[in-house]
Amino acid sequence: MELQTKNIVTPGELVNLDDHPPEYTGTYEKKGQTKKRLKKLHKQLLELQGLLYAESQHAVLIILQGMDTCGKDGTIRRVMSGINVQGCDVFSFKVPTTDELSRDFLWRAHRSVPSKGKIGIFNRSHYEDVLVVRVHNLVPESVWSQRYQQINDFERMLVENGTVVLKFYLHISKDEQKERLESRIEDPTKHWKVEASDIRERAYWEDYMQAYEVMLQKCSTEWAPWHIIPANKKWYRNLVIAECVVDALKKLDMRYPEPSVDITKLRIDD
Ligand code: ADP
Repeated sequence: MELQTKNIVTPGELVNLDDHPPEYTGTYEKKGQTKKRLKKLHKQLLELQGLLYAESQHAVLIILQGMDTCGKDGTIRRVMSGINVQGCDVFSFKVPTTDELSRDFLWRAHRSVPSKGKIGIFNRSHYEDVLVVRVHNLVPESVWSQRYQQINDFERMLVENGTVVLKFYLHISKDEQKERLESRIEDPTKHWKVEASDIRERAYWEDYMQAYEVMLQKCSTEWAPWHIIPANKKWYRNLVIAECVVDALKKLDMRYPEPSVDITKLRIDD
């Protein structure tokens, strides 16, 4: 897909999110045009996940970040629908507990990474420690400013040990967030999703955009690049992410392991 190369951040590239239209949908105009493609990707994903599990030489870590309502939950639901749940773990990163805060910030991320053969999804991640933490000065600048390098080193270690790290920033516009928050307020079945913090954090939109730009610039690496996903249109977001995950799995060039017994000599008794 033509968008694939464009949405990967080159290591060190200065990112201006204003240059990335969140409503972008490539050559597609409406959801209906992508259904067939997404169905095919789901089928491929299921097959590749089976191979990943059988071979058990690699793990895949998918990191989802973005502003409130950007669609992290929806992406997990729609992109991963149909895969074998036994081979997939999802971790949601909330405000750290006292226990977590008494360790280094990467501890809770490291203990949640997928084991070989599995796909792990981080719904928010260790990147919160250079996002919300930076925006609200939850630790001194001298502390959070070191974290970019620490994150890069951590992810390099994961990659060198057989984990593929796929990072998606789900880019929505401030107007789109307003609409999504309003629709949650109007729909009783979505009231449970409404949090005062979502409205509060919206007031810091510009600070967050700046924090995201720095994160994208400093932490898009050769071994674990960031993808900027135009996410105003949910169907396009799902398509691009599914495409990226399938591509990454294909690149692993996996093989089913050799059987541990001589299959030609096996007889199953009646
Ligand atoms: P979500 O919005 O992801 O559906 P919640 O509504 O429970 O889930 O929000 C989780 C909250 O935890 C977010 O506001 C996020 O910024 C916050 N959070 C996550 N990690 C950290 C961290 N390291 N330090 C402070 N806050 C954090």
